[in-house]
Amino acid sequence: MQTFSELDLIEPLRRVLDDLGFNRPTPIQATSLPPILAGRDVIAQAPTGSGKTAAFGIGILSHLDPAQIRCQALVLAPTRELADQVGKAIRRLAAGIANVKVSVFAGGVSLSPHLASLQHPPHIVVGTPGRILELMQRGALDVSGLRTLVLDEGDRMLDMGFDESIAAIVKRLPARRQSLLFSATWPDEIRELAKRSLRAPEEIAIGDELG
Ligand code: ADP
Ligand code: MG
Repeated sequence: MQTFSELDLIEPLRRVLDDLGFNRPTPIQATSLPPILAGRDVIAQAPTGSGKTAAFGIGILSHLDPAQIRCQALVLAPTRELADQVGKAIRRLAAGIANVKVSVFAGGVSLSPHLASLQHPPHIVVGTPGRILELMQRGALDVSGLRTLVLDEGDRMLDMGFDESIAAIVKRLPARRQSLLFSATWPDEIRELAKRSLRAPEEIAIGDELG
């Protein structure tokens, strides 16, 4: 795949990629987007800065129904900073699609604004595993309509000890969903995480940061 126009993208996504100056897909986007758009589970290894966020962002937004006011996509990231970055990047990609709400929930700050915000459910939630699990356990974050799970920076989340939180979150998600795992390195622990969380994933590896 050489150009985004080879993908059957919805018009607002096509336009926003133009506006952002994303003229051609990066290698990870070119290889992961066809299976992602086809609804397959994907485990993708690619170095930092290779464009993984747009790969899963385009996937999430392609499968989203803005008319359904419920959480349809969940992105787990290792830190507040990364969750904020991912939230911003997805909002940029969603700019041309009417009424898409993206919320970021990371730990280290008081829970009450997050609980209040969830009174009006977002379509897309980005957050750190500990805080997301807490919001689910309190019954504040309803994931029964979830279509897409993204585990971003999988290796770093495991390094930070989020393994059990991730497992507890995944257990509560609908079995019929798409799961995408992105990681810069691919150690054995990532393979284990993939085995537990993904279903017959397409495996993609780009670049040289083999873990
Ligand atoms: P990763 O998550 O793989 O580390 P990011 O998703 O943060 O990388 O992307 C790195 C940078 O590349 C971002 O600034 C993003 O806007 C830019 N980018 C992503 N895809 C493209 C593209 N197809 N063309 C040009 N720039 C891109
Ligand atoms: Mg990233």
